[in-house]
Amino acid sequence: MIPVPLQTLAGFAAGTLRGDGACLVTSVNTDSRKITAGEVFVALVGDRFDAHDFIPQVAASGAAAVVVSKINPAWGALPCAVIEVGDTLLALQKMAAGYRQHHGALIIGLTGSNGKTSTKDLTAAVMARKCQTRATLGNLNNHIGLPLTLLSLREGDQCCVAEMGMNHAGEIKVLTDIARPDAGIITNVGMAHIEHLGTQDAIAWEKGTLAASVRAGGVVVLNANDKYSEVISRHCQASVSMAGVGRGDVSASNLRADATGTTFTLDFSGEKLETRLPILGEHMVGNAALAACMGWRQGIAPAEVAEALNQVKLTGGRVEPKVVHGIQFIDDSYNANPDSMIAGLRTLSTLGEGRRVAVLGRMGELGPIAEAEHRRVGEFAASLKLDAVFSVGGSEAAWITEASKNVPSEHFPDHATCAAHLRQWLRTGDVVLLKGSRSARMEQVLTHFSAS
Ligand code: ATP
Ligand code: MG
Repeated sequence: MIPVPLQTLAGFAAGTLRGDGACLVTSVNTDSRKITAGEVFVALVGDRFDAHDFIPQVAASGAAAVVVSKINPAWGALPCAVIEVGDTLLALQKMAAGYRQHHGALIIGLTGSNGKTSTKDLTAAVMARKCQTRATLGNLNNHIGLPLTLLSLREGDQCCVAEMGMNHAGEIKVLTDIARPDAGIITNVGMAHIEHLGTQDAIAWEKGTLAASVRAGGVVVLNANDKYSEVISRHCQASVSMAGVGRGDVSASNLRADATGTTFTLDFSGEKLETRLPILGEHMVGNAALAACMGWRQGIAPAEVAEALNQVKLTGGRVEPKVVHGIQFIDDSYNANPDSMIAGLRTLSTLGEGRRVAVLGRMGELGPIAEAEHRRVGEFAASLKLDAVFSVGGSEAAWITEASKNVPSEHFPDHATCAAHLRQWLRTGDVVLLKGSRSARMEQVLTHFSAS
């Protein structure tokens, strides 16, 4: 943070301050185990914890202040300032909103069903060519992570690429009210979290909230390949550009995939450049087009944009190539939903000279369409004529292999059994895609495989 007087933060939070309001604070934290001297600690209350229980330890660790919604007489006189508020989560969000205005960096908000974190990393890499850029750490994209991201903006930061996630209707509005984005990217509108939102139209409406929230004079970049982009663009007050594969104001074409990435022509409305992305998958080229378009609209020269894409590195677990016991794995185990499964399988089908093998786990949060979607993924894998499809876990994962008829397929009850089978069945030259929802923890197949 830029050093801020405690009384200013208390004002943002609309809290009652007791203690030295002139003391300067440089950090806000919600994790009582990681508190360091001079920080402001916000005592959040969850379903299974209440951080008010740790206030005495936090104060003893040298916190400058604690933000609390209740005072426990057993704490006695605390050796730090206290900001009392009605609701600590709301206070954290208000502090972030106030600090964001106070700081003044350009905020690029980013949401979508698939590829948020990847596109966030790509956009941050592009923006860093022009200005000091911060981005959401890892996947801290929710009602707590987004405020913490904004509060982590330092002196000298000129841009922040903020990922915004959602599971339920109304959540994006909460995040945009805090971040007040100057620019926005919507990666796509898919099926993720349909269990809670009901229909794809409802998901589009929810994502569209971000685009509509970008101020007049700001920039919105939408996916030229997504059927919802047109209608979303009609609700924007900001200036909209489209980017995608084969179409858009910035478009990627002539894609040539190889073992470590894709080379393509990137067309910035007439200015064409050969570009290489060192990441696997056509879907990642689409993400890169969105990032390139945002950079270009922010005044970064096409050659600089292409150079940034060429050197980018993604957050782990997303189409990450790994070689173990001489076998090429594509670790895409971080998460999955039907769209990203299909994108991952399509990527696999283009790779290597040997056998192409999909090792898949369940996809969560699909509600009543779960069985149909798992079977659709199985049928899609079979249509690609992969050399084998393996599923791991419970009955949901098994639906995939039940549906992948006409290709060799087998279901395994757990990671270890699957890994043992792979160890004796795979041979040099094979390529293996590992993918499933976070809850499926498919990276454990690789852990068992490595150890065997
Ligand atoms: P989360 O909702 O968990 O935050 P996310 O939207 O941030 O996910 P990423 O972490 O970037 O998405 O990627 C998750 C998975 O989706 C990865 O397997 C990745 O390969 C895949 N993916 C990335 N971009 C796309 C895309 N444009 N279309 C389909 N799948 C994609
Ligand atoms: Mg993410």
